[in-house]
Amino acid sequence: MTPATQAAHFINNRWTAPASGATLPVVDPSDGDIFAYLARGNAADIEAAVRAARTAHDGGDGPWGRFSAVERGRLMMKLAQAVVDHAEELALLECRDTGKPLAQARADTASFARYFEYYAGACDKLHGETLPYQRGYTVMTLRCAHGVTGHIIPWNYPMQIFGRSVGAALAAGNACVVKPAEDACLSLLKFAELAAAAGLPPGALNIVTGFGHEAGAALAAHPDIDHISFTGSPATGSVVAQAAAANHRPVTLELGGKSPQLVFADADLEAAIPVLVAAIIQNAGQTCSAGSRVLVEEAVHDEVVQRLAAAFAALRVGPGQADLDCGPVINARQRARVQGYIDQARAEGLQVAGTGTLAAAAPQSGFYVLPTVFANVPPAHRLAQEEVFGPVLATAPFTDEADAVRLANGTPYGLVAGLWTRDGARQLRMARKLHAGQVFINNYGAGGGVELPFGGVKHSGYGREKGFEALLGFTSLKTVAIRHD
Ligand code: ADP
Ligand code: MG
Repeated sequence: MTPATQAAHFINNRWTAPASGATLPVVDPSDGDIFAYLARGNAADIEAAVRAARTAHDGGDGPWGRFSAVERGRLMMKLAQAVVDHAEELALLECRDTGKPLAQARADTASFARYFEYYAGACDKLHGETLPYQRGYTVMTLRCAHGVTGHIIPWNYPMQIFGRSVGAALAAGNACVVKPAEDACLSLLKFAELAAAAGLPPGALNIVTGFGHEAGAALAAHPDIDHISFTGSPATGSVVAQAAAANHRPVTLELGGKSPQLVFADADLEAAIPVLVAAIIQNAGQTCSAGSRVLVEEAVHDEVVQRLAAAFAALRVGPGQADLDCGPVINARQRARVQGYIDQARAEGLQVAGTGTLAAAAPQSGFYVLPTVFANVPPAHRLAQEEVFGPVLATAPFTDEADAVRLANGTPYGLVAGLWTRDGARQLRMARKLHAGQVFINNYGAGGGVELPFGGVKHSGYGREKGFEALLGFTSLKTVAIRHD
């Protein structure tokens, strides 16, 4: 009864055949082979999952809704432990499903467990306040679970993004319906089984697999969902938000970026270079918060480009299981898209400073793209403006602090910014001026930081995930005013 072979949804703690009977193949990006099948969910499956979740919550009277905060915390700690106990199995599944190097999949698994651990400890620290009001009154606020929350998850970090979203939603007392990505979600099906075995009541967590335009669209538009959280592309984010708006339901959107890493001439380059490279190469550049632009003060631009070129030349690309520096991208469509950016920029005469190499063992049928760094990319160029979602880095020089801020903020996105400088006053000035949800100074935190609120501005989305802040988004505030005199 392994989820990888049975092509079923997980509803009410049971493997449930898709209403349509249809399945869809799961492809290994490292060699292009089909190795499993998923249930192809539709509106009827979503309906069953929402009903299960509603019954589990039932306004605080259902089997999950009745859990006290302390009991939820204890159970969530068991979920964290279940991930730890099955860490290698989960990491191997994630590695095969997404193509990411095994070390990355293991790190993702550790973060996955951390989300449940963090939110386990937070369950009984989430509370309202008492407010001063007129004489003779006591007024309090209650932090109430929304009820049923919908979660649409992408394929780049299935476990991490499920952990940060579903972990926080469960901790706040919601019952969840999850539509993971059609390209990668086997680790999540495995987790659902582990969660049920650990004692999560039926209906608290339901997973419906399938395509976005079928199962995903049905979830976003469902009138009995109280909140939707979505991570994915800006275009799909708009569609999801519009569907939820028809029901006046709140939405959290995390939509990607074109995040800059700024390097001033006084920076510790020895420390910066490996971090600059990792920020774009991690997960083959398929990271919302990838540091995909490196903006360098003129005096050191050429030196930084040379060092980046040397670092890129040392990068080896190959199958996830070979655990090299960079795996394949997720699918053939994504490979064509990313390679298209590279080919077009080359054809236009943009300067290729360096590329990685493909390992001899990499199957021809895998979806590989060589990491590529382009130097002196004009600020208006596609590579400086658009999210490539692949291992492609664009550098550009800046003249001074004002120019750096202008370039850094000069894209439609605003997710993360990195800053390398030893000047403390500049660190503080820039931290305030950079238009982003997170600013990392003398480090870069793509994907990291369970404890750190994360989210964007502009086309990077709105709402905050991770940290304690995320819990607030998974509740609604109720004000209770009592007159006693
Ligand atoms: P990609 O095109 O790379 O798959 P998306 O942003 O479209 O990126 O996908 C992110 C998630 O959103 C996936 O789980 C996908 O199935 C889902 N999705 C795609 N289209 C829709 C839609 N119209 N409504 C709801 N969810 C969708
Ligand atoms: Mg896959």
